[in-house]
Amino acid sequence: MALRYLWRLANLPARVPDSVITDYDVLLVGAGPAGTACALALRRSGLRVALVDKAQFPRDKICGDAIPSPTLKALAGLDVAYAAELRVLLASHRADVAHSRLVAPGGAEVSISWKAPAFNSPRLQFDEALLKLVRRHTTTTVLENWPVKTVEACSSHVTLHSANHAQPPLTARLVIGCDGANSVVGRHLAPWPLDRSRHCAAVRAYYSGVTNAPETTSDFYFLRQHLAGYCWVFPVGNGVYNVGFGMLSSDIARDQIDLKAVLRELLAEHPALAPQFREARPLSEIKGFGLPLGGSARPLTGPRALLCGDAAALIDPMQGHGIDKAVQSGLLAAEHALRCFQQNDFSAASLHQYQAEVQRRIGRPLGQRYRLMRFLSGQPWLVNSVVRVARWPWIRQALVRNFG
Ligand SMILES: Cc1cc2nc3c(=O)[nH]c(=O)nc-3n(C[C@H](O)[C@H](O)[C@H](O)COP(=O)(O)OP(=O)(O)OC[C@H]3O[C@@H](n4cnc5c(N)ncnc54)[C@H](O)[C@@H]3O)c2cc1C
Repeated sequence: MALRYLWRLANLPARVPDSVITDYDVLLVGAGPAGTACALALRRSGLRVALVDKAQFPRDKICGDAIPSPTLKALAGLDVAYAAELRVLLASHRADVAHSRLVAPGGAEVSISWKAPAFNSPRLQFDEALLKLVRRHTTTTVLENWPVKTVEACSSHVTLHSANHAQPPLTARLVIGCDGANSVVGRHLAPWPLDRSRHCAAVRAYYSGVTNAPETTSDFYFLRQHLAGYCWVFPVGNGVYNVGFGMLSSDIARDQIDLKAVLRELLAEHPALAPQFREARPLSEIKGFGLPLGGSARPLTGPRALLCGDAAALIDPMQGHGIDKAVQSGLLAAEHALRCFQQNDFSAASLHQYQAEVQRRIGRPLGQRYRLMRFLSGQPWLVNSVVRVARWPWIRQALVRNFG
């Protein structure tokens, strides 16, 4: 009896007073587009916000570097000056892109001119520019070289522990996980098994000396043998091109595909790409990373935690774009965080409203695009036909309306 009592005593959860004093109100983990957008949106909240990243900026992020137009629209919605300021900061590190050229497996091609302003910019500079906006316009504490290893939540607060033991833990009343595809916050607070049919992997490298590739056009090549994916050639300014190839992880696993080898082979042998790359010079190694696709039922909240951007699996399954969704979900997370503090309500029910809102505005449309992507994949004749009919003006207008 006494032994059982002692055992129960030793296993009681630690009780923390509700009025516990935390280091910050909000800890944002990850200073990519989701984290920086969230920090910008919290600028007038009066909350003590820290933005924690394992990297020292500027840092590279493996990406196609196409900054979708809704990214700039969302930032301009926060403050019209932000999008303009970003363009100035990136004056010498961007290519203003007005057209996309789609090349079908059979070789047919179509060029589409987009209405909304968009540009391509290497993430090394783009993410650094976003962080500059945070430093200029907010009182956010920015902590670089702070690798979050574990996250613990209790009824009153959340604690982050660093992988660097010299760094003392940080506490806050709410954590927002903006730490990308391999989110540590997600793993600790809202675990979710990897579903390869809703996940892509892609590789990219930088090249100069690419011929017949206008600096205002992003090229997409769809390939007969690897259809739930594409190869891209995106100008990023200064005569440099971001070149990559990605496809569905379930197909990669099923067919044992080596993405780097496929990219090398395409640049050497594809009838349209090979002539463009004959004189091209690689400026970097080929590197790869994962893309968690949107439209799944991934939980976006955990105890005292919200997830956004890639941590919340919000990448567009058709285009592979995730920067715009990262910014949009970062803004929604900020809005919701503010509500939690105003109402002093961090309950699961309150946090779940964030999930419902993201699902309504972002998740549901991504689910439709996922189904469209699956419908088109494995059917080269269909993709050939889509590219051919996309030459018709009214179809092209519909594409511009739907994709920017
Ligand atoms: C090959 C490839 C090509 C792509 N091409 C495009 C494209 O052209 N256009 C587009 O819109 N999207 C593209 N995407 C998707 C896009 O890169 C992501 O959707 C976008 O970066 C998500 O932003 P984020 O802020 O959620 O995460 P990230 O940009 O990944 O930022 C996460 C941040 O968290 C930090 N972090 C991670 N773990 C920890 C930790 N434990 N502790 C502290 N900090 C941590 C990282 O250092 C990083 O700074 C591509 C992705 C890939 C892989």
